[in-house]
Amino acid sequence: MKKILIYILILITSCFILPAIFSNQDKTKETIVEKTNEKEEEKINEDKNKKSDKKESKKGDKKESKIGEDKEYKIKLLHGKTGEVEEVNLEKYLLNVVSAEMPADFEKEALKAQAIVARTYTIYKKNNKKHENADICDDSKCCQAWISKEERLSRWEEEKRKENWNKIEQAINETKGQIITYKNEPINAFFHSNSGGKTEIPVNVWGGNNYPYLQVVETSGEEEYKQYYSDVEYSYEEFIEKIKTKYSDLSINIHDENEIKIIEYTESGRVRTVKIGNHNISGVEVRNMLKLKSTNFEIEKSKEKIKFLVKGYGHGVGMSQTGADSLAKQGKSAKEIINHFYKDIEIKNLSEIF
Ligand SMILES: [Zn+2]
Repeated sequence: MKKILIYILILITSCFILPAIFSNQDKTKETIVEKTNEKEEEKINEDKNKKSDKKESKKGDKKESKIGEDKEYKIKLLHGKTGEVEEVNLEKYLLNVVSAEMPADFEKEALKAQAIVARTYTIYKKNNKKHENADICDDSKCCQAWISKEERLSRWEEEKRKENWNKIEQAINETKGQIITYKNEPINAFFHSNSGGKTEIPVNVWGGNNYPYLQVVETSGEEEYKQYYSDVEYSYEEFIEKIKTKYSDLSINIHDENEIKIIEYTESGRVRTVKIGNHNISGVEVRNMLKLKSTNFEIEKSKEKIKFLVKGYGHGVGMSQTGADSLAKQGKSAKEIINHFYKDIEIKNLSEIF
């Protein structure tokens, strides 16, 4: 009788417990890629080893340490100049991004905020592809800046190279896997150089949708940076020529006070509309045509020339990089900086989401 019981026990062990142990070992070998919802699965889970078993989605903590080290969380990076698509490790890719996007002499907490923002931006792009065969490209005008390590180092003074690179590396390692989420989804983490003191909402720049986490926020200390102020001056002939590239039927009497004037501002105080002769033109268009650093400008007219006095640098949406540095100088942490620029968000680890 005892023997029979022992046999049954052995049978149960070999049929149920052992396979369970081995299959669990298999599962722990996998990384990040987990199903959260169908939409995300389609876009993110390209990994062949993905599992859609719901039981696995509780294993986030175990997998956390693997992010970035594993070969499994990769980004397909398009090099604009050569057209080559390179598969790169996300965390390693961020070294080339953060070191291209933000000066290494910025505060460590600002660099950490930049790392989180750049990581989030990358994941958002991976989910919302702009390029057919790649997740993101290396052009700052299209996606996000990128610089090779060799080139980055060569642009720094020799004695600063090691220190700078280590600082960037630390900023990325200390925020490893962290992304900004809204309702458990990676946010569209826009960022720019200098807000001129106040950030802008996306609809005023690109039209389309607003995002609840992107609001107008004020940041002190931005005026301390060289990106805060710039001006551009044109003769009236040059000015008219530039406007005519898009508005060929422009009719204007430059001696009339009312022929060139700002008629409307956005919520953040940037220029929404400018009357130029017989046209009402958006601030964004004027910025592009006249190569202004932002839409936060004033117009100064003299007899011969027209001058644009510009505050801030960039579209003004999301995190201001110099604003981040300014806040870090005031003692704010990376997390506080992120919460300043993006509203009602949560910083989560990639493994909690995917
Ligand atoms: Zn791109």
